Parts: sequence; structure tokens; C-alpha cells
Amino acid sequence: MNWDDEVRGGEVSSENEGRGIDRGSQEKRPEYIPFAPPLISEDEIDEVVDTLRSGWLTTGPKTKRFEEEFARYVGSEHAVAVSSCTAAMHLALVAAGVGPGDEVITTPFTFVSTVNVILHVGATPVFVDIRPDTFNIDAKRIEAAVTSRTKAILPVHYAGQPCDMEALLALAADRDLLVVEDAAHAVGAEYCGKKVGGIGDITCFSFYATKNLTTGEGGMVTTAHDDMAERIRILSLHGMHRDAWKRYTAQGSWFYEVVAPGYKYNMSDIQAALGLRQLEKLDGFQDRRRSIAQRYSERLGDVPGIEIPYVSPDVRHAWHLYVIQLNPASLAIEREEFIEELKAMGIGVSVHFIPVHLHPYHREALGYSEEDFPVTGSVYRRVVSLPISLRMTDADIDRTIEAVSLVAHRSAR
Ligand SMILES: *Cc1c(COP(=O)(O)O)cnc(C)c1O
Repeated sequence: MNWDDEVRGGEVSSENEGRGIDRGSQEKRPEYIPFAPPLISEDEIDEVVDTLRSGWLTTGPKTKRFEEEFARYVGSEHAVAVSSCTAAMHLALVAAGVGPGDEVITTPFTFVSTVNVILHVGATPVFVDIRPDTFNIDAKRIEAAVTSRTKAILPVHYAGQPCDMEALLALAADRDLLVVEDAAHAVGAEYCGKKVGGIGDITCFSFYATKNLTTGEGGMVTTAHDDMAERIRILSLHGMHRDAWKRYTAQGSWFYEVVAPGYKYNMSDIQAALGLRQLEKLDGFQDRRRSIAQRYSERLGDVPGIEIPYVSPDVRHAWHLYVIQLNPASLAIEREEFIEELKAMGIGVSVHFIPVHLHPYHREALGYSEEDFPVTGSVYRRVVSLPISLRMTDADIDRTIEAVSLVAHRSAR
């Protein structure tokens, strides 16, 4: 069975029927290739239905099993399932005691929630510019940003490529800082042969609908520290003591105590049902993403004005995003126009990310100016994320490659 059959067999709707180029007729409008639609198959649907019939909807046996299997998969001592990666990062900072007066070092080239969670605990985000090759936080520049108030570093594994963890962890150990990783893109990624989630102090994953593994909405915290795992678990469910969710089972008791003003960040068994089945298939999912990225890189590497993503030899990339850079010196077309042309050809492209220091709120609240992070600024103006998803067929990939090549060749200087 080839991948296309697998995808078609797993489809839950027929919206993709007839997709692909109709080579016989130029007038016929090709179907739109969405940027990152989720792939949900019958076995996941069955598992959710089983949960609905079981009578146990919220955090329960499936969540527990999902945590255990996820911890085993990434090679971590503990995993705590939560409602989102944003919740995971917030809990990690609260559990670590980061608060008002503290500083947390992070990257401006990320989704806004990485920075918002630092603001939620009352701490100050301190941005450090990115590397021009991986677009990850530049470990060499962090030292200069550390002050006596710095409590933690919050690196983001951009696009699914792990950060320079050896340098980050060495610096953190040296300065007694906590490392909380935003691994929203990096489930299944590896650094020096170790899976992300089993490397640093605390790692936070996202199972949002567009992510490599999805539970619709959801997240996970992994950590090797027993006390940290315990605190995060308690804080994720109102601050109730351990295993409070069992209070409605036969073994449970009506009695519980609240030991902290916690949050409502727990995962439901409906979400965990999806997660369990997706996790079983994750290695296959990652192989498919890698082969899409490989095909893109092989065929776009020589296209004028297009730079393909750099991959460090130390990592196994999770390919959550496939991000090309436009080279303005060899293209007589603006990035915006490039995107519009691709969209008109039915290719769902996007941009990741609008640097956080450029958002109106953060610009005002943090007082950074556009010129403060020159690498982030120049990368941001040049990047385009091509569609990459498990729903893409080989024909979709080729159509995307042909469209990008056509627009680039047409606009070559
Ligand atoms: C998706 C994403 C998040 C947020 O994940 P949620 O599960 O939606 O909270 C955080 N950081 C990055 C880099 C992301 O892409």
C-alpha cells in the first residue's frame, strides 16, 4: 500500500477527492492544498467513541496511559498531560517559582504564547536574537543577556529542529538557570541521538490541531525531576493533592485537600484517546514528514532565489514546518506578492512567525524596537512556510514544487 492509498483510506471526508493537477485542462481550477490539515483515521475515531461509551470523559485511565506511553516514547521519567502547550509552559514557570522581578530569556521568533506565559507569571521576557541558519535562539548571545534576575531560559525548537541543547544546558548549569523547552514543533525530534523531552529540565509539547501529533487541543510536560512533576500535576488540577481525579471511582474517597491555588489545565480522556492512537503511529508520521521535506529540498535546492532549510548534523528534524527563504537579491518580487501568487495557484502557504516584539501589545509593553533583533528581522521578511501535512499526496507535493519554481523563475532577476 503506498502512502496515497493510506491517506485516502484514512480520510473522514471527501473534501480532497479529485485533488491534484488536471494536466488535460489548464482552465480547470485545481483544488486548494491546505497548509496543515490534521489526519484523523477510523481507529482514532473508534477510540474516542469507546471513551464516550465508557462513561469516563475527563482525566482518567486513558490520560494516565497516554502519559505513561508518551514518557516512554521520549525517554523521560515523568509526563503530565495538560490542556495545551501554553498551559504546560505556564505551569512549568509557576512550578519553578518564576515570578515578578524575575527575567526569562527567550526568542522573539516564536508564537506569541511562548512570551505570554512569561508575562502571566509576572516576569519579564528578555529576547535574544536567533541564528541565521536554524532560526533557533543563538546560544552564543545568551550569556550577555543573563543578569542577576535571570531565572530561566525558554528556547523554542523552531520548525522541529532542536536547539543547541549542549550549549544551553552548560550555560544554564553554570548560571544556575532552569531550561524550559517550548517543544510545540518538536515531538519526535532528536538531538545527538536523544529524543526532545528526555534532554533538558522541563519540556513542553503541543497537541494542537495543526501539530505533528494532535489531540485537537492538548499538551504535555515531561521532566526527569520528581518534585517538579508532582508540583505541575497538582497545579494542573486546581491545586488538589495527587490523584484527586480518582475521587469519583470505587477506590476513591470524597476527601481531598487543596495545597496551592492551582489551575484548570487537565487533559480529558477524549483528548487522550486521540493521543494514544496518534502516538502509536508517530514514527510513521515522522517518516512521511521527513520524506516530504526531502523531496522539497531535492527539487527546490537549485531554484533561483529560493533557499532551502538548513539542518544541523546533530539533529533529527521533526519537520513540523518546512520554511524556505526568499533571496531578495535574485528575485524581483516581494514576499507578500510571492505568497499571493502561490495562494492563487491553490497552494496554502503561511509565515512563521511575526516576531513577538513587533506585535502592538509587546512593542508597547516591552519597549523593544524593530532594529533590536536584526537577524530575526531579516529572516522574518524572507520566510515562507510551504504546506506540509500527512494529508498531502505525492501529487500535492509536486504541485507545490512546480508552483514555487514557476513563480521564482518568472521573477528571477
Ligand atoms: C502551537 C505553538 C504553541 C502553543 O501551543 P498550544 O498547544 O496551542 O498552546 C507554543 N509555541 C509554539 C512555537 C507553537 O507553534
